[in-house]
Amino acid sequence: MPARRLNQVHGCGVVEASDAVVEGDGLWTTRPGVRIGVRVADCVPILLAGPLADGRPWVAALHAGWRGATGHGDDSPFAGPGRGILRRGTARYRSLGGRPADLVWAFGPAILACHFEVGEEVIAAARQDPAWHEALRSEGPSGRAHLDLHGFLRAQALDLGLTPVHEGSVALCTMCRSDLLYSYRRGETTGRQWGWIEIG
Ligand SMILES: [Zn+2]
Repeated sequence: MPARRLNQVHGCGVVEASDAVVEGDGLWTTRPGVRIGVRVADCVPILLAGPLADGRPWVAALHAGWRGATGHGDDSPFAGPGRGILRRGTARYRSLGGRPADLVWAFGPAILACHFEVGEEVIAAARQDPAWHEALRSEGPSGRAHLDLHGFLRAQALDLGLTPVHEGSVALCTMCRSDLLYSYRRGETTGRQWGWIEIG
């Protein structure tokens, strides 16, 4: 288990890791040896790592379900186009002197487009994002909408200036891969995945 963790609330708060367990959905640190992480079942764990202007490493772990990815309901002040926790996390990196193109980034296992059935209000929230494109919405066998959450976050990442060659995502679906992964939607409420990162 990571040494520094959050009380996750499906929001967009990105905070510096400290000894306290704080409310939020993203942690960052520049301190070597401090392991930070987010806990997920079907949401996307996002890991970021890159150098600051002075060369010190910076790492972050973010938790992104549809609310975190779209910034739905997050009306706190934010400098930059769009909303959402990836945009906030990247803005924090920039504010500390980092260049988004230098970030190494990864999305971990999550419920993927094959299984992520959502209401149209979720699609409507995602459509507010400047990086949205309609191919991120598909229709499942029941005719209901499916959202490609990895694809949506990737569109944001590229819009933010992150580069494809620095992506190391793991595109495994938590619903499909019951042999490997926990899924809340599959009815498992006892287990979670951790996405954690540490400066060595
Ligand atoms: Zn699936």
